[in-house]
Amino acid sequence: MDLLAAAGAAPSASEFYSPIPDGYRKGQHKYVAVLGTVMSGLGKGIFASSMAKVLKDKGLRVAPIKMEGYLNIDAGTLNPYRHGEVFVLDDGTECDMDLGTYERMLDQNLTRRNFVTSGRIYSEILDRERQGVYLGRDVQMIPHVTGEVKRKLRELAIRGDGTGPADVVFIEVGGTVGDYENGFYIEALRELAFEEGPGSVCFVALTYVIEPKTLGEQKSKAAQLGIKRLLEAGIQPHLIACRSSNPAQRKVMEKIAMFSNVPLRRVFSMHDRESIYTIPDDMRSGGLDREVLSVLSLHDRVDTRHEDQARRAWAEFERKLTGERSREVTIGITGKYAELRDAYASIEKAVEHCSVHLDCHVNQRWIETTEVSEENVAEKLSGLDGVIVPGGFGSRGVDGKIACVKYCRENGVPYLGICLGFQVAVIEFARNVLGLTDASSTEFDPSCDTPVISELPDQKKIEGLGGTMRLGAQDVKIMPGSLAHFLAGGRTSMRERFRHRYEVDPTFIERLESRGMVFSGRHPEQPIMQILELRSSAPAQDEGEPVSITHPYFIGAQFHPELTGRPLRPQPLFMGLVAAAIRARYESLDPDRWAQMKREPDLSRWLNSPSSTEQRV
Ligand code: GLN
Repeated sequence: MDLLAAAGAAPSASEFYSPIPDGYRKGQHKYVAVLGTVMSGLGKGIFASSMAKVLKDKGLRVAPIKMEGYLNIDAGTLNPYRHGEVFVLDDGTECDMDLGTYERMLDQNLTRRNFVTSGRIYSEILDRERQGVYLGRDVQMIPHVTGEVKRKLRELAIRGDGTGPADVVFIEVGGTVGDYENGFYIEALRELAFEEGPGSVCFVALTYVIEPKTLGEQKSKAAQLGIKRLLEAGIQPHLIACRSSNPAQRKVMEKIAMFSNVPLRRVFSMHDRESIYTIPDDMRSGGLDREVLSVLSLHDRVDTRHEDQARRAWAEFERKLTGERSREVTIGITGKYAELRDAYASIEKAVEHCSVHLDCHVNQRWIETTEVSEENVAEKLSGLDGVIVPGGFGSRGVDGKIACVKYCRENGVPYLGICLGFQVAVIEFARNVLGLTDASSTEFDPSCDTPVISELPDQKKIEGLGGTMRLGAQDVKIMPGSLAHFLAGGRTSMRERFRHRYEVDPTFIERLESRGMVFSGRHPEQPIMQILELRSSAPAQDEGEPVSITHPYFIGAQFHPELTGRPLRPQPLFMGLVAAAIRARYESLDPDRWAQMKREPDLSRWLNSPSSTEQRV
């Protein structure tokens, strides 16, 4: 009985199990639940995060949660090919890429509480079952599993993401209504709405309006049928978002509204746009914000001063985002998932933020590294003003990445190496500058004689793959006078997010540095190298030729800078790269224009002068 009480469970005689966390007051908390119909992958996260931003701008505290149907405990072992990038939170949670959309849109750090999978819910329930928490009861989908879902939502409502209670919890359920694997989430939401009472949960159905080429017009039937499934599950949507390629036609929206019992003013066209960052304002101009406030009776909680301020800052960003850019560059992103851009979603976004702030259209060219070799690298990278070698796992495509690094280093092409891209920069330097021709990583070659990259001592002790990585945010100590220091605006510390198992073997650091590689970012106490760059020239060595490394921008990060880039606070390593790419394109091509450009304060802030690098380090 004590255990039951501790779990907040009802006595075993009752049919109900709806744990209410301490301090929770039923009916006082508000929820917006976004559910998919017709098909998945349409942007529930984009809708939910845009709506959450609109409410946050009004001074309300918002807390999003993504509920995944799969049985994995987290997203750590998922293949980015199948599921898109694995996004890492500050606390080390490996989660769905939608959490990245929420963090960027809301400019808010999320935690483990903002993400849940069926696997985690089941595993917690099974643990409790073994502890005897449900003693005397058969543990069932309803009420126990649904009860745990409601508990998680209510806990999020009272704690928020660690900073205090949330005014509105935004719930996004993965997949579509009718999937077996997410059925219990939808049932839990129906129960939640019933228990909390009217005006507590606002349901949004995100649906899809098809436009078959052969017909040349939009059809609403699939959307109607999709929403019917939601009605069959006992949920009446309050709002409908119509995903479509072109703006949803009025006639189509009227039909959908009529068949779903939803007034037309609560049906929103979420057609394809050049950028998702214009959606919050479109929602406002469509009056959708007022509709949500009405459903949840939140009008009197709006802080208009806060809203005006937030809107002004965003409007400036949006004006630049949608305006013509005065220049353009092309940046290559080399990876092995290059054909599937979702695998690099945050990189694409981080670059987009910089392109807005630097008034530069950035063409992103995706390069499949398995097709790159020493012989064809010049041709594969031709026309690029900068190169990003992103993170990755396993040996496939690594030789191509090393060839890319060598080409960039030798030809002065601006380079940003991320995680694996940092590691291959070390391997390439060891092989081609230090002459350690068999240098490699124990990840690709476990019996390698010169393992310049090898497993972290702490990680070696852990068996298996799931959960053995160095994960989450860590401080990076920055060397004064370095390029990293310049990019960080003179700060000597940054906090960045990691997800790796291997690192630079400390026994090679001295040799690497003696020939011009500078480890300008390090763990504050341990010998873990976190940022590398090149000195502009390296001293002659007894055992080799003097090397001259005048490079305009060559930087590598053991962490993932793309995870912390935000629309209004672009990530410095990416800003430096795009600025260097602008210089690479215009300095020799159009010297007069360049002379003008480099005086622009927004650009010159990020232009590192290669000649001063030498003096600095
Ligand atoms: N595979 C490398 C490691 O585990 C790099 C990881 C990454 O790029 N995220 O250390």
